[in-house]
Amino acid sequence: MIRVSDITVFLKCPRMCYFTNNGHNLVKDITPAYIERLILKELALSYGSAFGTEDAVSFLDEELNRLSTEIRVIYRNELSGIDEDTLANSVAAVRSCLGDICSNLSSNGDFYANELVQDEPVVCSEKFGLSGSPDRLIKINDAFVPSIIKAGNMPQNGIWQGDRIQLTAYSILVEEKYNSVVERGFVEYARWGKVRAVVIKRHERRKVLQIRDKIKKIQGGFMPEKPKDAPCEYCGFTGMCDVKSTLASRFF
Ligand code: SF4
Repeated sequence: MIRVSDITVFLKCPRMCYFTNNGHNLVKDITPAYIERLILKELALSYGSAFGTEDAVSFLDEELNRLSTEIRVIYRNELSGIDEDTLANSVAAVRSCLGDICSNLSSNGDFYANELVQDEPVVCSEKFGLSGSPDRLIKINDAFVPSIIKAGNMPQNGIWQGDRIQLTAYSILVEEKYNSVVERGFVEYARWGKVRAVVIKRHERRKVLQIRDKIKKIQGGFMPEKPKDAPCEYCGFTGMCDVKSTLASRFF
């Protein structure tokens, strides 16, 4: 079974996907910026409730107080080596964003009016050999729609290509589970309090299936070519990655 998270790793670098599928951990540098993203992602789950209050900033301020103690329970592994001061600084950095976040929440009224079915539902398709867990599943009229929360940068328009592929993969899984058609999904940009709707396109559905097939080959032991634009400077696999490409890998 291929996970949607395998697809997101593949999009960063197919070789990273090879190493993670061979039992190596994707080492994440736990920087203050990374901790801020974890907090923002959790906080974004409360934006819909904040939208319905008279004073959204105070509401999210209280939510941050709650999260400053609960975040360690939720991200136990990731935050195990992080001291209290570092965590407090990251909470303070997120607190400084609350004004900007709340000034944008009103533009998402239609989105927050939808019924939230479940946070992080596991969706899986034997038929497509895919599984994953979108951040939220919402119901619009009678249709189930996936939504993902991103705490990194937001593009000026639309959404990032990687997010589009990830959302498309979740849409395929949701369609399978509910025997429905997913025409659009959502990306919630947590740092700005903005939600963008995305039309699920045919060529991206095709791309998801093509990547799935490439990951199947990787799981069968195939090492893909080192991409020219691979993010090697931020990668923990540099030491084990210096392998010459083969003729076969060039046609991957
Ligand atoms: S070192 Fe570069 S090519 Fe190798 S897995 Fe990492 S990002 Fe990919």
